[in-house]
Amino acid sequence: MADFLTIEGLSLADLEGLLEATRDNIPLAEGRAPTRATLAGLVVANLFFEDSTRTRCSFETAVHRLGGSVFNLTPAGSSLSKGESLLDTAQNIECMGVAAIVVRTAVSGGAKMVADGVRCPVINAGDGRHEHPTQALLDVATLLEEFGSVEGRTIAIVGDITNSRVARSTTHALTTLGARVRLVGPPTLVSPAFERITKGPGTVQTMTNLDAALEGIDAVIMLRVQLERAAGGGVSSDYRSMYGLTQERAARMPSHALIMHPGPLNRGTEIDDRVADDPIHSRILRQVTIGVAARMAVLENLLAPSGVLKKVSA
Ligand code: ASP
Repeated sequence: MADFLTIEGLSLADLEGLLEATRDNIPLAEGRAPTRATLAGLVVANLFFEDSTRTRCSFETAVHRLGGSVFNLTPAGSSLSKGESLLDTAQNIECMGVAAIVVRTAVSGGAKMVADGVRCPVINAGDGRHEHPTQALLDVATLLEEFGSVEGRTIAIVGDITNSRVARSTTHALTTLGARVRLVGPPTLVSPAFERITKGPGTVQTMTNLDAALEGIDAVIMLRVQLERAAGGGVSSDYRSMYGLTQERAARMPSHALIMHPGPLNRGTEIDDRVADDPIHSRILRQVTIGVAARMAVLENLLAPSGVLKKVSA
């Protein structure tokens, strides 16, 4: 059975197929088109072993919009709090006849571990600092809605690159499609080793000077410092002045440049209020809508017989 675990290793054709399906699903994600019944009679399990607002609710919404049923399991109130393992939990849930398992875990590689231990399709909703493939789809689909293509476009991803699964997945997707990616952050949170991420025709450059990195960009994706994954480090007192998208910095960006963020926002740290809420340039809430469309695309491709993906698994 096919899984959807990573963007790394996804072919250009499969990535483009999913992005096209995402675009076509936007009217349905917005509630402007009638619900489809491709998942009618199917039950999807959302196993969220790490906190989530957007990803969990948008997978739920996506299943509903495709006519299926979904339930959520989180550590509080489940036997995980009694010490049951992730894999035991997933195998027990599979035995209830679910069509697919959507899993979020703090363990890098945890989604693959679940996929190896069950027969039903598994979708990675974020595993530790490893990958968040549906976030990458929605990020790229948001850029495509604006620019039509990302080939040759320059996208800066700014913040805690080292601990961000979003940075990894979105960089893989953007470089596969030929974009230039600038990964920007303090030297402790971005390593030149990330320049090896690129697989496709795109390029990756690591930078530590945010002002230089914002020159000539087409979009910036701001990231939260992943305090839950930081080994003892907090946010330094000069973080906002060095790496925050302040109003003054945003005003110096090219006038067409988009502002994005996967959420949750730490307003006043990595992004100022007025920048996040900028009615012209911010696409932060648009990303959320497109996220539902992206998750519908993945669910349909794995579960509906006409899916374009034959096997997406790495
Ligand atoms: N929501 C994203 C994630 O789960 C980004 C973040 O938490 O900062 O990775």
